Amino acid sequence: MTEPILKCQNICFSYHNSNGETRALTNISFQVNKGELLAIVGPSGCGKSTLLSIIAGLLKPESGEIFMNEQENLKIGYMLQQDHLLEWRTIWKNVLLGPEITKTLTKEKEDLAYKLLSDYGLLKFKDKRPGELSGGMKQRAALIRTMVMEPGLLLLDEPFSALDYQTRLMVSADIGNIIRKSGITAILITHDLSEAISLADRIIVLTRRPATVKNDIPVHLTLPEDSLLSARSAPEFNSLFTLLWKEISDEYCGENC
Ligand code: ADP
Ligand code: MG
Repeated sequence: MTEPILKCQNICFSYHNSNGETRALTNISFQVNKGELLAIVGPSGCGKSTLLSIIAGLLKPESGEIFMNEQENLKIGYMLQQDHLLEWRTIWKNVLLGPEITKTLTKEKEDLAYKLLSDYGLLKFKDKRPGELSGGMKQRAALIRTMVMEPGLLLLDEPFSALDYQTRLMVSADIGNIIRKSGITAILITHDLSEAISLADRIIVLTRRPATVKNDIPVHLTLPEDSLLSARSAPEFNSLFTLLWKEISDEYCGENC
């Protein structure tokens, strides 16, 4: 658990457009350990998605460095708020989209897709179109599509925000369990503090824009049973929530008070 799979060191980034410069990130440093589920929280617009895009290699940092552990599988999986399933394809064809595009579709990939659909209760929907599934099921299908690519690091950018509250509780616990069972290393961005506490091993709090790391908080919950939904009734939950709430609201206060 203590071996870093990824290290961000002094990452800085600004956007440049006709309105001038928007400084998004300043001196971001943290590491992610193998097998860890790290949550990143911070005020809206502080630079969370920008940071994830830099880690995914979609944006280049202005300065600073990202180190990936070379012993590890560095393939990155990216899951967004919208499921982005293609409506004209069946669930089966959707989960095999990645291998198809990258021309890596083999019998093994099909077997893996079949196993994941079966393990996560979607096998009987494999010939349905996304529109015939509930929001939660679609998000699960989107996760399976990402996992079929066998990523070494999974990046999740507010993956549950489009769901209503009840569904969100169920789906986040569900997806948290899938990630834990697979042992995959993951970075989850969320604005939902309860979600961060119930899912993550560690939470990084970012300041308002330009974001930098404000706090790095380990999460150790005493769970009455092995269920992520019960995390919300763990004795440590409330004090962690209060701590995070204060950290984030201080950031908004700095701006407006
Ligand atoms: P978060 O995900 O924390 O809400 P983002 O990383 O999306 O924040 O954005 C950080 C800041 O950068 C915001 O102020 C946003 O308006 C700005 N920003 C994001 N994308 C662009 C872009 N393509 N061009 C200019 N500014 C941008
Ligand atoms: Mg964002």
